[in-house]
Amino acid sequence: MDFDLTPDQQAFVATARDFATERLLPHAGRWDEEREFPAEALREAAGLGFAGIYVDEALGGTGLTRLDAALIFEELAAADPSTAAFLSIHNMVAWMLGRFGDAGQQARYMPRLLGCEIFASYCLTEPGSGSDAAALRTRAEADGNAHYKLNGSKAFISGGGVSDLYATMVRTGGEGPRGISCVLVEKGTPGLSFGKPEKKMGWNSQPTTAVTFADCRVPVANRLGAEGEGFRFAMMGLDGGRINIAACSLGGARACLELALDYVRQRRAFGKTLSEFQALQFKLADMATELEAARLMVHRAAAALDAKAPDATQRCAMAKRYATDVCHRICDEALQLHGGYGYIKDYQVERYLRDLRVHRILEGTNEIMRVIIARKLLEAA
Ligand SMILES: Cc1cc2nc3c(=O)[nH]c(=O)nc-3n(C[C@H](O)[C@H](O)[C@H](O)COP(=O)(O)OP(=O)(O)OC[C@H]3O[C@@H](n4cnc5c(N)ncnc54)[C@H](O)[C@@H]3O)c2cc1C
Repeated sequence: MDFDLTPDQQAFVATARDFATERLLPHAGRWDEEREFPAEALREAAGLGFAGIYVDEALGGTGLTRLDAALIFEELAAADPSTAAFLSIHNMVAWMLGRFGDAGQQARYMPRLLGCEIFASYCLTEPGSGSDAAALRTRAEADGNAHYKLNGSKAFISGGGVSDLYATMVRTGGEGPRGISCVLVEKGTPGLSFGKPEKKMGWNSQPTTAVTFADCRVPVANRLGAEGEGFRFAMMGLDGGRINIAACSLGGARACLELALDYVRQRRAFGKTLSEFQALQFKLADMATELEAARLMVHRAAAALDAKAPDATQRCAMAKRYATDVCHRICDEALQLHGGYGYIKDYQVERYLRDLRVHRILEGTNEIMRVIIARKLLEAA
């Protein structure tokens, strides 16, 4: 067991940190405020290999591990959790295409996905089914031999309207998970439309919309894998997605801890700096300790996924649950340490707090993480 970063890891972590500091951090507040999607910055990130981090090199991807990806997403999110999280979803779809797509699908989409010439979204949630994702109702009926006709609606889709490719879980068979397939739907397909961008608490550098299919004709050739395999693919994508979202929480919490450390060293009250009050020192010590515990769990889960360990899903759920809860609390404590200034946008902490809140909800809520963990525990008993 080696806890040190390899020279390669140190190098790409430094690259990610420099990019995040120079290209994301100076603009993150404005992107949040103006709800601006930073397409150009994402293309620059793609130029560094961050659009297909764990896609095989044979397919043009960066060929790194899930652990490597966690290190990179922590760095990007330390500047802008919202933009980093969008990139993590894009990576998840690129991985699904690399892992389950055929050569034709990969040739058509992969090079452009890896360059962020096109962006990708992941469409599982529906208005009537979030946590109970296997109850989804969007239907894909055969329309001749070569097409499906899609009807239904997806809710809360990150990148809705700005993405060019939608990895969409649809029902091609009966009830339950085995009746679900995954199809790639291109923007511009007749019958595909988007709702208005939701007005959100955070994650404002990327739109979230409903995605609606009305007699939307999609080639059967755009189905990933066989009919009935879509739910399994979606869940396998989410194992990695959960690591990435947890890593985005680590980055946001780390940034808030650093902001708080700077602030308590210079802010004075009762004739001392805040850093001289032991009550506040203890708070900072707890924040740093919990951040370290969360990071260890995330890295351990990522390593389990890389090793295809039988308990990887459970570890990913544990890491996602713990890291996203603890890191959100660290941001909140950092805001408290800033007093009234923490509530003011110029100080940035409130942006991180708002962005990290949703990590406890999406890619499976933290209650659903507990469902997954408990199910495995009870199976083992
Ligand atoms: C900003 C944002 C972006 C998103 N992006 C995407 C995306 O790109 N793609 C996508 O497919 N989805 C996306 N989602 C959807 C997200 O994954 C769902 O909101 C989430 O899975 C919860 O589903 P729900 O909102 O329907 O809540 P519900 O499933 O209705 O849950 C409501 C509450 O009940 C709890 N609950 C439900 N079932 C149980 C149970 N069995 N035991 C205990 N508690 C339970 C939940 O934990 C939650 O607290 C996004 C959501 C948001 C807010």
